[in-house]
Amino acid sequence: MPKATAPAAPKSNANASALLKSLGIQAVNAGVFDGEWSGSGQRLASYSPNDGRLLAEVRTATPAEYERAIERARAAFHQWRTVPAPKRGEVVRQLGNALRAVKAELGMLVTLEAGKILAEGQGEVQEMIDICDFATGLSRQLYGLTIASERPEHRMMEQWHPLGVAGIISAFNFPVAVWAWNAALAAVCGDATVWKPSSLTPLTAIATTRIAERVCRDNGVDPALFTLLIGDGATVGERLLNDGRLPLISATGSSKMGVRVAEAVGRRFGRTILELGGNNAVIVAPSASLELAERAILFGAVGTAGQRCTSTRRLIVHESVRAALVQRLMAAYAQVVIGDPARPRTLMGPLINAAGVADMQAALAEARAQGAEVLYGGEPLGGAKYPGGCYVRPAIVAARHDLKIVHTETFAPILYVMSYRDFAEALAWQNEVPQGLSSALFTTDVREAEQFLSGRGSDCGIANVNLGTSGAEIGGAFGGEKETGGGRESGSDAWKAYMRRQTATVNYGSGLPLSQGIQFGS
Ligand code: NAD
Repeated sequence: MPKATAPAAPKSNANASALLKSLGIQAVNAGVFDGEWSGSGQRLASYSPNDGRLLAEVRTATPAEYERAIERARAAFHQWRTVPAPKRGEVVRQLGNALRAVKAELGMLVTLEAGKILAEGQGEVQEMIDICDFATGLSRQLYGLTIASERPEHRMMEQWHPLGVAGIISAFNFPVAVWAWNAALAAVCGDATVWKPSSLTPLTAIATTRIAERVCRDNGVDPALFTLLIGDGATVGERLLNDGRLPLISATGSSKMGVRVAEAVGRRFGRTILELGGNNAVIVAPSASLELAERAILFGAVGTAGQRCTSTRRLIVHESVRAALVQRLMAAYAQVVIGDPARPRTLMGPLINAAGVADMQAALAEARAQGAEVLYGGEPLGGAKYPGGCYVRPAIVAARHDLKIVHTETFAPILYVMSYRDFAEALAWQNEVPQGLSSALFTTDVREAEQFLSGRGSDCGIANVNLGTSGAEIGGAFGGEKETGGGRESGSDAWKAYMRRQTATVNYGSGLPLSQGIQFGS
């Protein structure tokens, strides 16, 4: 049954170890699952960004363990693809229920390992549950078309078949939801998956895989269906990219990583779903509700400590309302409770590690050097209240739209503010960056709203009117254009990427008419 309340925040090491134990995490864990747990490669330590404490260690995959895991996943696929899709859906439905039962605990582990506040840690698990529900319904809707044939007594149709073993590479900031977006859809489509999580969040991956293992075993399904391979990008990651046994690689992470994935997988004619960096803008027009805009920008820019691919990074505000909005934002930023994300009142936790803090400081120094002015915050936070060294105050920076740093995704809570005069200019600025994930416009002018959503409007995969850039629902296809990679995951018809399309024609006559009216021979 779903738990109604979150578990108490693990204030002590003892509480944290009880939580880890309840999710099957030990002091040292096997990092490979392919029906059996193994892992005899290098040890990987997982530290909490919240206070720097060691949570647990993981033994990563060796090349031999990688080989065995891929073969086991292939064997699981060969069996799974013969199971009727609605029966596959039933297993995914049970996976959703198993996640419901541990939503509080798994959410807390996300909080401990990734530094997300409680509501976001649990929200991430809710996203997993939602996609399982979506995929269950989808398992009865993997429709193909029947197409009118130009040849007499012929029937032509489009069929969707299972594709194979799909590789899933995920980023630290959605340590479990991204797996579920891919794995739930892939499973109902008849595919097996091999998951390489971020090396920064291996424990959430192990806990999730244990849940999936149990559901498979309860249903007599080969648990290698949900294979796990923990290891770094350069070893396990590169192997997956170059492995011709994996027809699809779904990779979530930085655009730099995406280029590497696209090159390597493209060279072997594999398919990719690329979910990469964003540089998302909110445009605030003179007619906008500043109250709505303020709340949406605050959540978009400060939520998850600015570490969402959809985080609001640029504010393009009309010059007539700029002063009022910036004042509101500074007041709202000053109210944000920063600190231990496991405390219920906290709104902003730490960055993922010290490198994240250093990147933010470097970006702010660069912004200043390029002529920008820091209006608010930006500094690292230390002392007993902020143990572990990863806490920062979110920054508001006045900048010109065309600064190089403004066109760069820094994975931290920096909001660049620029003011515009006419709407065409605002749209042009919104679109001029290399990334194309999410965008938002606050206006009550219907012409602006429609223009923004038209073919000459926002060039992003996500375009919102009167709501912010982050917090997408699973029902829509998720992803973006340009350096965001072009992939789509989750809802709508994103499932098609996990299947093999086949156009099939049957001749039920006794002649052999050729298409295009071609006569061949007598
Ligand atoms: P990252 O690129 O450092 O790592 C992402 C994953 O790629 C990790 O699992 C990493 O081990 C793996 N990887 C790295 N090099 C690899 C290689 N050569 N071969 C195979 N795998 C390799 O990203 P991160 O710091 O974990 O996450 C932050 C980034 O992810 C941001 O740019 C953010 O915008 C992006 N992101 C995008 C989305 C989206 O849906 N568009 C969602 C979440 C995060």
